[in-house]
Amino acid sequence: MCICINCMYVNNCVTYQKVMKQHCSSFIKSQAKFNPSQPIISVNIYYYKKSMEIDWDIIECLSFLDSPARWVKL
Ligand code: SF4
Repeated sequence: MCICINCMYVNNCVTYQKVMKQHCSSFIKSQAKFNPSQPIISVNIYYYKKSMEIDWDIIECLSFLDSPARWVKL
């Protein structure tokens, strides 16, 4: 699971927006300006219903600042 959903910077984070674009997400509306420190992205490739799927998650980040359920405000 992506840690960003509980991060204070999720609304304004460049890396989070790039990961969400990989998910083809349409709810990203603004242009992010915050550059996080050393985010680590996990990419999982798997097959689902005979097609290849790719899942992107940010699993570690030095800039993470705990703000539970922050993603609800996106
Ligand atoms: S955890 Fe890091 S990459 Fe994720 S939203 Fe927060 S600052 Fe951005």
